[in-house]
Amino acid sequence: MTTLRLAIVGAGPAGIYAADILLKAERAFNVSIDLFEQLPAPYGLVRYGVAPDHPRIKGVITALRDVLDRGDIRIFGNVEFGRDITLADLKKHYHAVVFATGAIKDADLAIPGIDADGSYGAADFVSWFDGHPDVPRTWPLEAESVAVIGNGNVALDISRMLAKHADDLLPTEIPANVYEGLKASPVTDVHVFGRRGPAQVKFTPLELRELGELNDVDMVVYDEDFDYDAASLDAIANNKQVKVIDRILQQWRTRPSANNAGGEASRRLHLHFWAAPVEVKTDDEGKVSALVYERTRPDGEGGVVRTGEMREVPIQSIYRAVGYFGSPLADVPFDERHGVIPNHEGQVLRADSNERVPGVYATGWIKRGPVGLIGHTKSDAMETVRHIINDQGSWWQPVDPSEAAIPALLAERGVRWTDLEGWHRLDQHEMSLGEPEGRARVKVVPRDEMVSISRAE
Ligand SMILES: Cc1cc2nc3c(=O)[nH]c(=O)nc-3n(C[C@H](O)[C@H](O)[C@H](O)COP(=O)(O)OP(=O)(O)OC[C@H]3O[C@@H](n4cnc5c(N)ncnc54)[C@H](O)[C@@H]3O)c2cc1C
Repeated sequence: MTTLRLAIVGAGPAGIYAADILLKAERAFNVSIDLFEQLPAPYGLVRYGVAPDHPRIKGVITALRDVLDRGDIRIFGNVEFGRDITLADLKKHYHAVVFATGAIKDADLAIPGIDADGSYGAADFVSWFDGHPDVPRTWPLEAESVAVIGNGNVALDISRMLAKHADDLLPTEIPANVYEGLKASPVTDVHVFGRRGPAQVKFTPLELRELGELNDVDMVVYDEDFDYDAASLDAIANNKQVKVIDRILQQWRTRPSANNAGGEASRRLHLHFWAAPVEVKTDDEGKVSALVYERTRPDGEGGVVRTGEMREVPIQSIYRAVGYFGSPLADVPFDERHGVIPNHEGQVLRADSNERVPGVYATGWIKRGPVGLIGHTKSDAMETVRHIINDQGSWWQPVDPSEAAIPALLAERGVRWTDLEGWHRLDQHEMSLGEPEGRARVKVVPRDEMVSISRAE
């Protein structure tokens, strides 16, 4: 029977699910899969995106680990596609490749002053608090008043991480440098801004409700934002999720908080709706000093129009949480506008035409764009895998599909790759670091240290 040698690039949920689904699928050929991952640890944004105080979601890792632990997928960690291994290499040694490289960068927000000192992308901050090895170890948490732009779950994650007291994060897996950074933060007010109204947010109810349960943090919402138009009332009446979100916000309107007398917490988390960011103002040293925003109002169809009314909030730092954006890969088509690999149901297309690129597939966030939950990457992978199976006639014809060729190639290039056994070693090490403090794990952050532990060097 023919054996499909398949390379998957990216060991996030999308790549791991694709491997699992293909191995379990009904097919008329054998399968041998190699998973390439630029980081020394697998699981992508589940390890380096999902917030540390969301252990239930981090628990998805258990399911992904079960797939890897079965032992029928080889992992080559600390191997970057485009640098350590190229498309030409893959064509020599595999019949096809699936790119599952996700998204790690922030989408842009084009307003004056957004590049000022004190203005950050949410993705970079997330990478810092989740202990990503490729970002600086320290984070400038010097602001008392912070703005967060965006009305999705990432905006909630970073607002919560900014407002939450560091000691309340201690039971989680946060690295020591993150605890110390957050502990020293002088923050008192976090202001979250959304262009649209409470009935149009992209938050999910569970994540929103969690804000109201933070220790020593008051939720502040503003009555003027709840003058609902017909489209909002319709959304609240007919969409269960919007109804729950409205109920949560309405409860906060009646709670004691800073804007209705009462509210004794040392920190406040303000939600501003109908607020479109216009400009980040700076002081004489070029540091962020205020956010100018324009009030919007509903256009009657679920959208907004600007009102011309400008307002200003003094802040010392600002985070844009307006979406993630994929990165291009060497010799692989890329859609610059949407930050994805152009594709039809996971079959990669040329960037300048709808012509298929044989043997090349995509799945997960790099296929669909950076929206949706971990579970969505599973249905995504099913679609992509179905095409791989059906496309047998157009797979590549590799000159050397032997399994031995890849370790030999990486060794020849001096790549210090890590494997499944190495991941187990690092995993155990992180758990043992947490044990004396009664924590599930403490992450190892520096890449060199991760690699040395994995390789038992
Ligand atoms: C801040 C944040 C919080 C989130 N919280 C939740 C949540 O609570 N619940 C939920 O369900 N979903 C959550 N998500 C969404 C979830 O993380 C994504 O749906 C999912 O991770 C996308 O999977 P993926 O495999 O496509 O991409 P990723 O998880 O990004 O995995 C891609 C992998 O590819 C690797 N890679 C990239 N380039 C290369 C290269 N050149 N060579 C080799 N490897 C490469 C990366 O290192 C990474 O490991 C969150 C996302 C973010 C950003």
